[in-house]
Amino acid sequence: MEPDRAVGIQQDVGDTHKAVPRILVVDDEKYMCDLCTRTLRHASYEVVSTTDALFALQKLKARGSFDLLLADIKMPMISGLDLAHHAREVDPAIAIVIMTGHTSTEHLRQAVQRGVADFISKPFELAELRLAVDRALHKRQLLQDSLRLRAVEQLLFSSEAIINSTLDRQQLGHIILQMALEQIGCQAAFLFFVEHSYGIDQQHTLGLIQLPDDRWQILAAGSQVAWRTFAEGTALVIDSEQALCGQEDMQINRGLSMPLRSQGEVVGILLLCDNGPDMLRLGAQEMVALLANQAGAALRNAHLYGQLEETFQRLQELDRLKSEFIAIASHELRTPLSIVLGYAAMVRDKSDDERREYAQRVIESAQRIRDIIDDMVNLRHLDAGEVSLSRDICVVQDIVTRAVKRLSPTIHKKNLSLSLHVPDGLVPFVADREKVLLVLGNLISNAIKFTPENGKIGITVAIWSGQQMVEALQHTTVPVTITRLDYATEWIVIEVWDTGIGIPQHELIRIFERFYQVAASLTRQQGGTGLGLSIVRELTVVQGGMAWVESVQGEGSRFFFALPYLVP
Ligand code: ADP
Repeated sequence: MEPDRAVGIQQDVGDTHKAVPRILVVDDEKYMCDLCTRTLRHASYEVVSTTDALFALQKLKARGSFDLLLADIKMPMISGLDLAHHAREVDPAIAIVIMTGHTSTEHLRQAVQRGVADFISKPFELAELRLAVDRALHKRQLLQDSLRLRAVEQLLFSSEAIINSTLDRQQLGHIILQMALEQIGCQAAFLFFVEHSYGIDQQHTLGLIQLPDDRWQILAAGSQVAWRTFAEGTALVIDSEQALCGQEDMQINRGLSMPLRSQGEVVGILLLCDNGPDMLRLGAQEMVALLANQAGAALRNAHLYGQLEETFQRLQELDRLKSEFIAIASHELRTPLSIVLGYAAMVRDKSDDERREYAQRVIESAQRIRDIIDDMVNLRHLDAGEVSLSRDICVVQDIVTRAVKRLSPTIHKKNLSLSLHVPDGLVPFVADREKVLLVLGNLISNAIKFTPENGKIGITVAIWSGQQMVEALQHTTVPVTITRLDYATEWIVIEVWDTGIGIPQHELIRIFERFYQVAASLTRQQGGTGLGLSIVRELTVVQGGMAWVESVQGEGSRFFFALPYLVP
């Protein structure tokens, strides 16, 4: 909805519309009845008078038809006090002034019991009558306000749960409108929500929410009021020459427009329309203001949730595209890569001059590319929950030997010394052999990469009791994804250590995250994707294990991974 420039007549909420109080005068003395009626009409009240108390009783039965009852205490058929009693039953806030010949203690007692506001003793000055009526009406106003506020309190209390029960903006709008119509009792209600569009020039639009079966239609003056409320950020009482809304042969010119705010920002506008005077009273405005407050916060939540959901869907789509891309790219890259590796190996094996060394370099680089592709494919499987675990009988000595063998050319090239501590005669355990190899290979490859030439690296294997594991983990400074921790489980713990550059303490917490690499200055000479350790952790965790690290910058690192020691 775009801003409408049509002009209506509006006023700020401070300038409250006042309805003329209606008074019922009852006195069996005709002269007295006329005098009071004339005096009060002269004071601009709307007055209905009667000398028949029973007729008065009839009139009082319609709730809200009078603001004040002025009655003589002594009348045939029914006394003024009884009339007051009935009037209060119908409307607990009605103001009552009783005229008495003389005020006896008994009358006063009865009057207090019936909650009569004021007495006026005959004969009285007319000014006294006006004063008594004014005072009683003022008290009524206060009483009404406090009753209304109590109702609002209750409304808010019960509405909070309802309003916050949904994060769907349309549904929330319907709840707010329903509450406004029921609690404020207006003829028509419209809710506008503010929509921001971010572009070169930031623009706002107002979206309209109406109840599904609503036949009222917002008119130009109505939407213009909404725009003005949005622009000024204040509530407006409208008594316009142009209709705000209409349906078939009916139109509404009066209304109350309230901004719905959240964190100081106008997030919506509640426009209530009613031709009657009641809605524009202060109490009704307070009620709307309170409702608006709550609605504003809920509307914003719904909006943020909507945005979140949209972003989430976009991310899911991106994630799907990424997965698809990795699947296609890895498949397309693997085939030519195996050809490169195959022919390079052939050249290497058939040559004995310097061509042999060149071919070896080609092989190493191609293997590196293959490792990166493997990393990406492994992560894709982990993300998609497509990791299938095989239950192999693993001999730890064989696994360590295979992993080391694959990396021995680089170990030699850097002249690193390698220490292996694998206890003899370890009972084989059940795990996914290829995944254990991948984890171990990643850790050894890092140890080689981050240890300067002539340094030391090593692999230590041990079986830990549950107790040892609990104690070890209590001392780690880095959070560990713990899959299980009980005293009954035994663990096979494989440690890969080095005397390399180490990792600063504050970085330890993040190095198992995907793509995370320690500050460029430390690792600049080394290549890498920052995926290796995340694969280490995730492939260990899917097997019910854990991975963690201890490191001192400048001295070296100790990477551990532990798997439940399941013997077949
Ligand atoms: P990549 O080695 O491909 O960069 P990793 O996930 O294997 O990715 O490692 C993440 C980072 O953790 C490395 O970039 C490096 O900064 C640090 N790191 C890993 N292993 C070691 C190690 N043994 N010594 C020092 N730093 C290490």
